[in-house]
Amino acid sequence: MRYIDIHCHLNFKDFDEDREEIIERAKENDLGMINIGTGLETSKEVIELAYQNKNMWATIGVHPIYTNEESEFRAEEFKKLIDDDKKDENSKIVGVGECGLDYFHLKGETEEERESEKNIQKKVFRDQIEFAIENSLPIMIHCRDAYDDVIKILKEYREKLNMGEMKRGGEIYAPERLHGNCHFFAGTIEHAKEFLDMNFTVSFTGVITFAEQYKELVKYVPLELMHAETDSPYVAPVPFRGRRNEPNYVEKVVNRIADIKEVSFNEAEKQLVENARRLFKLN
Ligand SMILES: [Zn+2]
Repeated sequence: MRYIDIHCHLNFKDFDEDREEIIERAKENDLGMINIGTGLETSKEVIELAYQNKNMWATIGVHPIYTNEESEFRAEEFKKLIDDDKKDENSKIVGVGECGLDYFHLKGETEEERESEKNIQKKVFRDQIEFAIENSLPIMIHCRDAYDDVIKILKEYREKLNMGEMKRGGEIYAPERLHGNCHFFAGTIEHAKEFLDMNFTVSFTGVITFAEQYKELVKYVPLELMHAETDSPYVAPVPFRGRRNEPNYVEKVVNRIADIKEVSFNEAEKQLVENARRLFKLN
């Protein structure tokens, strides 16, 4: 595997016309992909895609903007997906999410309505953090306009784990069980530091190819603690801006990272694949 796109949505209908061609090109490019669930149904879809394709994996969870429709995280149903997946010798579920908080897309008009939406999002996020810890899986975090609250919640769990307060039966969960990646990172350097200190990585999208303000941030995060992603079909990198994005374009993100980090393209692609293998324990 030469590249890996650690966050994409190839199951979305945007790709219905040419999904097979994209997968063909991905094979030619030796590209790996992690497709991301956003609810129970899409989680099933990305698992299915992963079973059909080598170098493809899946995460399962509930996206915060869908917490209006799925106002709870039904752990038993997601647990069943994991149990079934474990029976397969090529298990494909490598993470929980995308989950987190999104205050940009709140629908409520009054402060009260918005507050209640936030509370539902927090509850569903907490449930998924606990689920990830129990199942020893990394968390794929989605965070928009909510970095302080996401960090606060993660810190609470970190603290609980450090105090030995999270356990099942006689087993006390090790603090390292809380780990993962903050996807589409768009926070400040201070936010990035908080994530890195808590055993999390951050990932960058095609946005870094055209938005100069990311330069300092990418410079700050050690190459060993970041990932490249497309979040396709969204935010295509230069020179494809404004068009539908696709996983193969992750190469442009890798290229920009190599530029900013002042390392060769080769070194960047190798390190980024290694980072993904390490965090998501790719088989
Ligand atoms: Zn996504």
